[in-house]
Amino acid sequence: RFEQVTMAPADPILGVSEAFKRDESEKKLNLGVGAYRTEDLQPMVLEVVKKAERKMLESGENKEYLPIEGLAAFNKATAELLLGADNAAIKENRVATIQGLSGTGSLRLGAAFIQRYFPGTTVYISNPTWGNHMNIFNDAGVPWKHYRYFDPKTVGLDFEGMMADIENAPDGSIMLLHGCAHNPTGVDPTPEQWEKIADLIEKKNHMAFFDVAYQGFASGSLDQDASSVRRFVERGMEVLVAQSYSKNLGLYAERIGAINAVVSSADAAARVRSQLKRIARPMYSNPPCHGARIVANVVGDAKMFDEWRAEMQEMAGRIKTVRQRLFDELSSKDKSGKDWSFVLKQIGMFSFTGLNKAQSDNMTNKWHIYMTKDGRISLAGLNLAKCEYLADAIIDSYYN
Ligand code: PMP
Repeated sequence: RFEQVTMAPADPILGVSEAFKRDESEKKLNLGVGAYRTEDLQPMVLEVVKKAERKMLESGENKEYLPIEGLAAFNKATAELLLGADNAAIKENRVATIQGLSGTGSLRLGAAFIQRYFPGTTVYISNPTWGNHMNIFNDAGVPWKHYRYFDPKTVGLDFEGMMADIENAPDGSIMLLHGCAHNPTGVDPTPEQWEKIADLIEKKNHMAFFDVAYQGFASGSLDQDASSVRRFVERGMEVLVAQSYSKNLGLYAERIGAINAVVSSADAAARVRSQLKRIARPMYSNPPCHGARIVANVVGDAKMFDEWRAEMQEMAGRIKTVRQRLFDELSSKDKSGKDWSFVLKQIGMFSFTGLNKAQSDNMTNKWHIYMTKDGRISLAGLNLAKCEYLADAIIDSYYN
């Protein structure tokens, strides 16, 4: 019976952390997974999270089941954080929000909903993208294809290719878009480009499915990082939006996020909510409450909310500082005249170095630097002290 089971391949991202643990070198550096580290390269729990947890403990909250759709105070807070508290869609009860198991679980609920209600509709995913996107839609039985996104020649957005692929997709397709801080490239459309993307999606009667995993982490501003989604919603377009609090509140292990369907009427929102609940119930019955309470407490208290924003800006700022230092080191060490300014232009947690698979292997095998094979490095796992070593490794891998 079980003898016939074959070995699954290691996960391309989380498998990197497993290999890192096995490496005994003192030089080793884990730039694989996108998880924030302090300047001492230690995981960090935000002070505002500890504060919320103390408050929760003091108030003696119980461990009763949450409803299938999750904690009401969380669902309210998360939709308001995404769309803005005074958003018309919220006021008109046109948003169906269900708490999910972080970004991944929320995307998975959205994918299951698509499979059930829009059967046969193809989801278009950027090339490249976060590796788990493909797994999620595959497992939900949703057909997907790539749209062009990244141009290696300019190390920037292939806007024309992207627009052509959106144009050529059959009317009524679904476009998966990264709300901000595109993973892995760190390349986002400009506001003008977003406007054109929205125009075209509207014209083609496509639907946008936003993945918002880095709100507040790209620019340091929660509102600015949600502007892509808000632009679509303000135009009256229907969207799906998956949210995650892994990065911006550092709640990786709490698995807290949400799936939001912004639809055209309160009536449709109620029906969509009921169906999302119906999908969640046989999968995991109801979501965990700890992370939901943390988010609800932090967002619901003006003082804690400000503290959160300050800590988020500190995290985003530290990443910008190492980004700058890495660029300085690369520019001063590389005598070939290569332009490394793309490192500075990229936003969010990552840098997309342009290293190919063999070069990425050299980074790991020779330099003990762990990263995904697409050439992505997580700057959230880098500190100033290691920038010089990393630049040496990149240049060695690049030219040899
Ligand atoms: N989407 C993207 C683009 C991501 O980078 C991530 C995290 N790496 C996620 C979703 C979801 O992560 P989580 O399930 O931890 O919220």
